[in-house]
Amino acid sequence: MSKIKPQPGIMDIALYKSGEAKIAGKSEVLKLSANENPYGPSDLAKEAFARTSASLHRYPATDHAGLRAAIAETYGVDGDKIICGVGSDEVLQFITQSFAGPGDEAIYTEHGFSMYPILAMAAGVKPICVAETDRRVDVDAVLAAITAKTRIVFITNPGNPTGTVLSKVELTRLAKGIPESALLVLDGAYVEFDEGFDGGISLVEAHTNVVMTRTFSKAYGLGGLRIGWGYAPREIIDVLNRVRQPFNLSPTQLETAEAAVMDQEWLRKCVDSNTKNREWLVNALRDIDVEVDNSRSNFVLARFSSEDEAANCDAALREDGIIVRRVGGYGFPNGLRITVGDESACRRVVHSIGQFKGDR
Ligand SMILES: *Cc1c(COP(=O)(O)O)cnc(C)c1O
Repeated sequence: MSKIKPQPGIMDIALYKSGEAKIAGKSEVLKLSANENPYGPSDLAKEAFARTSASLHRYPATDHAGLRAAIAETYGVDGDKIICGVGSDEVLQFITQSFAGPGDEAIYTEHGFSMYPILAMAAGVKPICVAETDRRVDVDAVLAAITAKTRIVFITNPGNPTGTVLSKVELTRLAKGIPESALLVLDGAYVEFDEGFDGGISLVEAHTNVVMTRTFSKAYGLGGLRIGWGYAPREIIDVLNRVRQPFNLSPTQLETAEAAVMDQEWLRKCVDSNTKNREWLVNALRDIDVEVDNSRSNFVLARFSSEDEAANCDAALREDGIIVRRVGGYGFPNGLRITVGDESACRRVVHSIGQFKGDR
């Protein structure tokens, strides 16, 4: 037996399960399992990506100044309060690693992102799961779960896989209710789809302990590039930069993301299509007796009458070459999360579910 032992808690971490991308025996699949943008990134981003091939022998800038300035200009924020990472996942990791450790607690909610307990446990932090009410974050329950050991509260807004949101009033109440010794992390992976919501920028400005994370993986169509960012008070950014590797992002990532954020026209088109297709999808699913909440995101959570029905529907979809996401791990054994694809994808998935329902 080897005497090499991992740190306590590491082997208790359940491996992250991502949305599947393949079906055995099918060459053409429609992937609606990972909330990707069906139209891909802006052409300007693709051109920037290609251009960087000329300078791959060069190390990247360590300060990310160009990308931070582009984000600051686009969102009207202070570039000195931005940190960029390998996906927002890496920013979430910096936050957890920097502000919590053994003996501390990190709160997340029942249907929250499965990365939160993983990141907490990797840092020796105890993850505390708080129940949601009717598939929405329950602010009172979150506040009631806070103890002297709480260092971080993770909230996904809009939620994944629920697609539901907290109102501005509720978010403000949450931010005010969290003690100043704990961080409120607002994970804004889907903010672009929730029109009118600033993702928490104003809350970051108003508090010393609020952090917002954002990503290029969803609305910007760059999930494969791995880039995200965080917005927080300068003192917090200063801490996070100390655990960040200096060369965490390649020139390709930095320049592609910079071009992407500068092309708000493309983002607008993608968001508008998503809104239109999402509303169509929600209504079409309800028409065939599938329960679904209104979503403020780029996916919908379809709820079936039992775990068996969800599993059988998933199997029927796979038979038709369509991959959606089973979400038992997120507390919805009866659910299937379906990414809003383009118009034909939405029609295809509804047609397939409709046939499954009709066949029984
Ligand atoms: C997709 C997603 C992210 C983004 O992850 P990246 O590392 O930026 O690709 C973060 N949080 C939630 C809830 C997500 O669904």
